[in-house]
Amino acid sequence: MTAVEAEHVSKRYGTVVALDDVSMAFADGEMFCLLGPSGSGKTTLLRAIAGFVIPDSGSIRIAGERVDDVPVNKRDIGMVFQNYALFPHMTVRDNIAFGVEAKGGSRAEADRKVAEMLELVQLPGYGARKPRELSGGQQQRVALARALVTRPKVLLLDEPLGALDRRLRQVMQVELRQIQRSVGITAIFVTHDQEEALTLSDRIAILDKGRIVQVGAPQDVYERPATGFAAQFLGDANILAGKPDGQGVTLTDGIRITCAGATARVAVRPEKIIVAADGDKLSGELINRLAGTIVQAVYSGNSVTYHIACPSAGPETLLAFVQNRSGELLAPKTPVTLAWAASQTIPLQD
Ligand code: ADP
Ligand code: MG
Repeated sequence: MTAVEAEHVSKRYGTVVALDDVSMAFADGEMFCLLGPSGSGKTTLLRAIAGFVIPDSGSIRIAGERVDDVPVNKRDIGMVFQNYALFPHMTVRDNIAFGVEAKGGSRAEADRKVAEMLELVQLPGYGARKPRELSGGQQQRVALARALVTRPKVLLLDEPLGALDRRLRQVMQVELRQIQRSVGITAIFVTHDQEEALTLSDRIAILDKGRIVQVGAPQDVYERPATGFAAQFLGDANILAGKPDGQGVTLTDGIRITCAGATARVAVRPEKIIVAADGDKLSGELINRLAGTIVQAVYSGNSVTYHIACPSAGPETLLAFVQNRSGELLAPKTPVTLAWAASQTIPLQD
């Protein structure tokens, strides 16, 4: 079933189009990620679902009901923001109990629910602390407990891990995912962090300038980006342009790239490219070949990123990620052959 639905939602601020005719259905129990650069409309969409933003046109449904005239506090949603937004003068217990007591729940009922929530977010016994006595990660767990305590239909999260350092963020991603699954709640999650989107979500929508560019499971969107923007925003991509026919594209110097359903622009991910130096054998399956010269090798321990000049592909260097098996780098100016399979060549719609 559909938990949340946005139907032709548009929102302008003066001349800025924050949302441009966005239609999207969020399924029951899924972890859905809105991914896009800063200013692409992610927060506006989330706030329109919550009821903080009133769209100029279009409609929002929650559990099948139109909520366009329903105020924020009646929409049955929980929210978590990047800046913890806990009440600083209140204890953890009171922060979490707030929603329950506001709805007329007794103190005993609130206590029981707070204890249950603190268990869920792995902070049992923290009820008497003040927010300032907690780490950033702990504060976000309390914010999550506070958002979930009234058992809302939908959980909305706006860059909830954005203020945490990388290590803690990874730990919290796993935890957030486990909690979301165990509660079975529909969660819509905003991030501009591509890795977070890939690791955390059931589905991803990529936004650009207030429009949804592509929607799909992480692997679908990564392996088959629809446009150059999607390919370059979610991961890295080499883009080659030429004259298409059904089976490939011909680059300006006559070199042919094989690709089923080729369009004028095709993409290949850097990790799909084999970099062969003089004398290296290449499997026949790697049908696409480009001659190039190493410009730069960027060493990052477990892998090496090569920037490679390939005249056939145009003036920009291509990227190839190579696993660091040998511990040795190819020096600048080394002539190489780039090779990859036709199946790893992605036709782009733009
Ligand atoms: P994101 O969350 O993807 O960074 P936002 O949804 O916050 O993007 O913003 C989308 C666009 O709308 C941006 O250009 C932003 O400046 C503009 N915008 C958002 N909220 C307001 C507002 N209250 N007043 C004016 N412009 C706004
Ligand atoms: Mg935002």
